Formats: sequence, C-alpha cells, structure tokens
Amino acid sequence: MAAFLLCPVCVQISSLSSGKSSVLESLVGRDLLPRGTGIVTRRPLILQLVHVSPEDQRKTSGEENDPATWKNSRHLSKGVEAEEWGKFLHTKNKLYTDFDEIRQEIENETERISGNNKGVSPEPIHLKIFSPNVVNLTLVDLPGMTKVPVGDQPKDIELQIRELILRFISNPNSIILAVTAANTDMATSEALKISREVDPDGRRTLAVITKLDLMDAGTDAMDVLMGRVIPVKLGIIGVVNRSQLDINNKKSVTDSIRDEYAFLQKKYPSLANRNGTKYLARTLNRLLMHHIRDCLPELKTRINVLAAQYQSLLNSYGEPVDDKSATLLQLITKFATEYCNTIEGTAKYIETSELCGGARICYIFHETFGRTLESVDPLGGLNTIDILTAIRNATGPRPALFVPEVSFELLVKRQIKRLEEPSLRCVELVHEEMQRIIQHCSNYSTQELLRFPKLHDAIVEVVTCLLRKRLPVTNEMVLSGGGGVGDAVQEPTTGNWRGMLKTSKAEELLAEEKSKPIPIMPASPQKGHAVNLLDVPVPVARKLSAREQRDCEVIERLIKSYFLIVRKNIQDSVPKAVMHFLVNHVKDTLQSELVGQLYKSSLLDDLLTESEDMAQRRKEAADMLKALQGAGQIIAEIRETHLW
Ligand code: GDP
Ligand code: MG
Repeated sequence: MAAFLLCPVCVQISSLSSGKSSVLESLVGRDLLPRGTGIVTRRPLILQLVHVSPEDQRKTSGEENDPATWKNSRHLSKGVEAEEWGKFLHTKNKLYTDFDEIRQEIENETERISGNNKGVSPEPIHLKIFSPNVVNLTLVDLPGMTKVPVGDQPKDIELQIRELILRFISNPNSIILAVTAANTDMATSEALKISREVDPDGRRTLAVITKLDLMDAGTDAMDVLMGRVIPVKLGIIGVVNRSQLDINNKKSVTDSIRDEYAFLQKKYPSLANRNGTKYLARTLNRLLMHHIRDCLPELKTRINVLAAQYQSLLNSYGEPVDDKSATLLQLITKFATEYCNTIEGTAKYIETSELCGGARICYIFHETFGRTLESVDPLGGLNTIDILTAIRNATGPRPALFVPEVSFELLVKRQIKRLEEPSLRCVELVHEEMQRIIQHCSNYSTQELLRFPKLHDAIVEVVTCLLRKRLPVTNEMVLSGGGGVGDAVQEPTTGNWRGMLKTSKAEELLAEEKSKPIPIMPASPQKGHAVNLLDVPVPVARKLSAREQRDCEVIERLIKSYFLIVRKNIQDSVPKAVMHFLVNHVKDTLQSELVGQLYKSSLLDDLLTESEDMAQRRKEAADMLKALQGAGQIIAEIRETHLW
C-alpha cells in the first residue's frame, strides 16, 4: 500500500466506553492507549502515524531521528534496535520504544492537565508513532460524549466535549469514524447525530459498530450492518475489539484480530469479508486515498504555484559564481543596459506608481522648467526709476535725440539674467533624477546586484562620480554656450540683439520710435536734472515728463519683446544642452566608465563577495524547490495509481 504523502486526519467520536480507543489501537496494531470503563480518554490525542522504511531506520538522520538521542534510547529497551518508536511533542526529543511507557506517559500527561478526577481538557496531546507497519495517517482520539458531570467535571461538561468534538470534525479534510457499540441502539447514536451536523451529506462519515460479541443472546447486528436501521453512505463496519478481560490478560492485537475473524466467520458468514478490523483499515485507507485524489487537482495547482514562486526567487538569487570575471562583466553590462533602458523608457520593470527615468526628465523639461520660465515676468524687478536712471546715465551730459541703445542693453541683460537660476535648477533636477535611476535599477531591475553589496556600492560610486563630473560642464554650457542663457545675455553687448529682434514686432517698434519727432525740451533744466541724477536718487514720487514717460515705455516694450524671444530660445536650448552634455553623455560613456574602473582582476574577489545570508537563503530556496518538485512527482504517481 502506498504511503501517504499527506497526513489526512481521521477523527473518531462516540459515546463513552463504546470502544473508540480500542478501534484506534487495532488500526495502529499496537497496545498503546489507556482504555477501560468510565471516561478514560480525557484529552484529545492527536496520533500521527509516520511510515518509516527499513532504510530510513538504518540511516536515522534528520530532525525526527536525531542519531545521538535515539540510538541510545532504542538500545535501552531490549538491547536490540527497535523497529517502532514513539515521540511526544511535550517530551521533546525523548524516544519511546516501550509502548507500555507510551501509555503511561499519556496517562501522566492527561492527569497533569486534566487532574486525576475525571476532568476533561481540550488541550491535545501530540504523539508520533514511527513504524514500518503503518501508513502516514493522523488519527484523533477524542473523549467520549457524556451527559452527566462526574468527579471534577464542570456542569457544562456535555457542552464542552461537544464543542471539542465539533472543533475537530468540522475540518473538511477529516474523515469521521462514528463509533457505536452494538449493544446500544444505533438510532440513539450520539456519534452519528453529531457527525451529521458537520457532514449532512455523509460524504466523510464512516460508521463503526463495536462490541459485536457483547450482544444479547438471541439478537444480532444483521440489520444494523446491512444499513437497514440507519443507512450510512460510506459504509457500516462491525468489529470485535478486546474485552477488558482480554486487556487484563494482555492479549495481543494479532491474537485479537485472529479471533475477530473467527467470530465473524461463525456469526456473520455472509458479511465476514466486509467487516472486521482489517477491512476497516483497508476501507479507511481507500477513503483517504479517494479523498486525497479529490484534493489532488487543487493540491497540484498549489504546488505548481509555490514551485514557480520558489523558482523565480531562486533565479533572483542567481547561480553560485563560477567564472567571476564573466559574472562581473555581465553584471556591469546588465546594470548599464538597465540604466540606459530606464532613461529610454524601454526598461523591463516599468514603474506605475510614479514617473521615473526618461519620462521624469521629460516632465522636468516641459512642466517644471517650462512653467517656471513662463512665470518669470519680463519686466519683473524693474521700475521706471531704474529705466530712467539707465537712460540718463547712457546719454551722459547731453540730452540724446533717441533712446540710447546702451541703456536698453544694460537693462535687458539684467532681466535675462533672471532666467539663469531656473536653468541651473533644471540641470540640478535632471541630475537628481539620473542619480535616482541608479537606485531604481539596483532595486528593481538588477536584483542580482543585491547579492554583491560591494559591487553594488562600487557601481553606485562610479555612476555618481560620472554624474557629478558632468555637472559643471553642463552648467557651463547652459550658462554660456550652446545658445543658452549666456548667449542671450552676451548678445546685446555684441550687438547681436538686433538680429534677434529683426523678425519680431520689436523691429517695427524701433523703427517707429526713431521716426517720431522729438519734442524740444528746455536745455538747462533738463541738464540740471541730469546732473542731479548722478548725485541723488531720483525721488520716486516725481511726476515724469512726457518725454521721460515715452522713453520708458519704449524701453519697456523693447525689453519685453526681446525677453520673450530669448526665453523661447532658452526653453529650447537648455533641455538640448542638458540632454547632450549630461543625459546622453552619461548614457554613452556609462558602460565604458564602469568597465574601465571596475573590471580589474585585482578587484574581482572583493567586488564579488556575496552578502552573508545570501548563500543561506539560496540553499533554503533550493531545498524548498526540490521538496516541492518531489511532492509534485508523488502526486503525479498517485494519480496514476489504480485505486480500488
Ligand atoms: P472509549 O471510551 O470509547 O475509548 O472505549 P475504550 O476503547 O476505552 O473501551 C471501553 C471498554 O470496552 C474497554 O474495557 C474495552 O476493553 C471494551 N471494549 C471495547 N470494544 C470492545 C469489543 O468489541 N468487545 C468487547 N468485549 N469489549 C470491548
Ligand atoms: Mg477512549
């Protein structure tokens, strides 16, 4: 019979002393449980049967069979190695080879928690039996249902036991053994009643009739066993366990089963092969097999999902490094590629929660930078007095016929300078984003990097340095060259601004301005006023003359037109400069920079030192994966096994 991989649970229930513990013992094939009249089972006993093959026994490895402890204790009992042994959860690693000792321990442990006066406790005792003669199966022996409290039992003992039983049998994976003694009326069976509460369709309830040998003379269980009294879908199986006298006389399970067989042959010849402990064991086994098979598809799916998860986890940990040099190059290249991909927007792991990489740079250019520039007022921070002062200063001692160009140049330069700061800020933001991409790449894309913290740090260092190195160059280009702010600031002095204004309305404005007749002003007060200007600040509240008013307006309009043109240019040229001198430059040189600085044989060992827990984690994941694959294989085998 195939050993079960899973441990299906089989819970038995019945009224007091109907023979549950006896049935369980027969199934295990060993005397190990306290039995008797009255309430003997007073704590749930979770009995896990573990099949061990003879080879396993010889090897005796692993947690279950710690060689040191168990060899000794196995030798203790009879001087020969035991085939079967037990282990309690509460006595840790102690191994029991003497089953009388196991029974004694169950009694002691029951008393320890539930007292010695018939008290009942819901706290289970866990016992594992290792044997080559059992199948992997978990059996639960529960206290019997009782009605009237005796001894230390509380008033609500009936309710307490009921709840305890319900707790175990409501597990949909369990099979319920409803045990009824043949010398009671099956129609009053508490066990069948309670099992129907959790299993109304009777899909996991099997009825067991004990004490067939104890029926009144002249009666038999024929009707009950044939299912004529109460039909039970999964079957009704009659058994004969050992009587109290047999127990007292230490009758063995083997003898008992032989006598049971003889009894059935004699009393129920037509039903003999469908009753008895052996048949019960087989039926149970079959039911559990079917039960497992029903669960297989779901189980298989779960195993597959888990295996896939562990596989990808394992992949992310990477293989143990064989060829360090190749691994280093590969990791560097992968990082560089991911970095570039994130900028290009072709990365594998695309963030959905926030903008990142190239998209964010684009945002910085168009939204952040663009908007800031637009919000700069062409005439901001410039007042009429400033303009007047500039005009007066430019004309010198004589009044000028036209608005002096120098004053315009001076003023416009000052205004345009105000675009410098947002431009530098734009460079800074892009630089920050490029820095952020490093983190993004090592967190999401190049997870293997996390294996090698030193390499990770070194890569971050190299890229950070490269970015920092590009910062002054880019700033300079933005300020001076490439048609940036600097150009515009310089242009007025070189007279280039005329060219810039040519295509604009400002040109017409200028022409119009020059063609206008100039009102003749009285010379001396004008002069005197100019002199005054050099010494004292022009009072703010002074009323401007018509000429002054006009001059100011002309200059303001000129500044505004010129400023708008320049701003548009800067809006175009700064992103171009940043892309060219920072983003693309770093993108193009990253790989060679990394290789140049890190791909050195002297650094290999240091850079590829794995983080401490990584090797451990990889091993754990690999073990788990292997176990899951093994489980998957066993399931496949069970599927193919012919179930009878
Ligand atoms: P539990 O309380 O349901 O666990 O019942 P036990 O297994 O402790 O059995 C109660 C008593 O009934 C014990 O003395 C057993 O020897 C006895 N007993 C159980 N089954 C049978 C049976 O089939 N025939 C006879 N003659 N006695 C039985
Ligand atoms: Mg019992």
